[in-house]
Formats: sequence, C-alpha cells, structure tokens
Amino acid sequence: MAKILKPTQTDKCNGCELCLLESQRQLKKVGLEEALIRIFKKKRDDNQKLEMQIEIDPRINMLHVEKISKICPKDVFEVENHEEIEGKNEE
Ligand code: SF4
Repeated sequence: MAKILKPTQTDKCNGCELCLLESQRQLKKVGLEEALIRIFKKKRDDNQKLEMQIEIDPRINMLHVEKISKICPKDVFEVENHEEIEGKNEE
C-alpha cells in the first residue's frame, strides 16, 4: 500500500530540518547530498518573520514516510494512503 507524504501545514514549520535529516538517514546519505526534502527560509514582505517553503521530491514516498512525518515537532505533514485517495475519487 503506497504512502504519500504531504506537507499540509507549512505555516507551522520552524525550519529545524529534522524531516530532512530523517530522510537522509534512511537514504544513508550525509548532509544535503541528493536530499529529497529541501527547506527554504524566505523573508516575508513585512520583514517580521521567516517563512518556510518545503520542497519534496516525489521519490520520498519510497522511504518510510511515517517516520519522517512523526519526527516533525510541528505536525506539518500528513501521510496519505494511496488506496484511500483512489477511493475518495470514486465518491
Ligand atoms: S521537521 Fe517539521 S518543523 Fe522541522 S523543518 Fe521539517 S517540516 Fe519544518
């Protein structure tokens, strides 16, 4: 059963990069080498706060995405079950 990692609450992201580190750990990679998750910190127009942008390579779904989701301290991610998505489309 395919699991799909979705960042559903990116506004809560604090830029800690734990999700990125967990995905790299699963890939046995060091640093940002071939990272499947990238976190970009952008200044908002009002200059008050940093805004996070999360880019996810679809190949992330070959990994243990529930572990990646659970490591996030801000509950930014949801893991969707691929069959559930197909079921929703049929309704
Ligand atoms: S673990 Fe969560 S809070 Fe930390 S960078 Fe990833 S998405 Fe953002």
